[in-house]
Amino acid sequence: MTNIEVIRADITTLKVDAIVNAANSSLLGGGGVDGAIHRAAGRELLAECRTLNGCEPGEAKITKGYKLPAKYVIHAVGPIWHGGKMNEPEILSSCYRNSLLLAIENNIRTIAFPSISTGVYGYPIEKAAAVAVRTVFEVVEEHPEAFDQIQIVTFSNFDYNVYSSEISTK
Ligand code: ADP
Repeated sequence: MTNIEVIRADITTLKVDAIVNAANSSLLGGGGVDGAIHRAAGRELLAECRTLNGCEPGEAKITKGYKLPAKYVIHAVGPIWHGGKMNEPEILSSCYRNSLLLAIENNIRTIAFPSISTGVYGYPIEKAAAVAVRTVFEVVEEHPEAFDQIQIVTFSNFDYNVYSSEISTK
């Protein structure tokens, strides 16, 4: 049984097997959750990221968590919202799917996602939540034994309510 839940928290504080970073394609750090993760993990995270040669939108790469309570960081690059006709839903779905598949390969059983693409990248939150929740449920259905817990971590009350109501439809 996989417990799928939405929480309100600072993702850098979570003691899980892996947290997902909403990274940019350089993997060399940025603002928002990416900046917070790099600050909390320390400079060794940036050093490992430099060896990865970036990451395409929709793909994911894994590093250690260094000073974070989480053992690993999975860096996923979301789509920049351009109005919805540039494959944004497919790319966002791939982020969640590829992060979960990479987690399975690394025996990660507890994982926490931020709200990928809904900050600086401008993806409308209701649309992003529908894609995120649908994809998480699909992967869990395909791999029912793989995960103990999958969390979607929100910062604001508003985002928390959007993801919660999306989950309640499942
Ligand atoms: P993107 O560039 O993919 O849009 P952002 O980092 O700008 O990514 O925003 C993604 C989401 O992460 C936003 O909802 C933002 O409020 C949230 N966020 C920012 N810092 C944290 C944090 N420390 N823990 C959890 N969520 C965070």
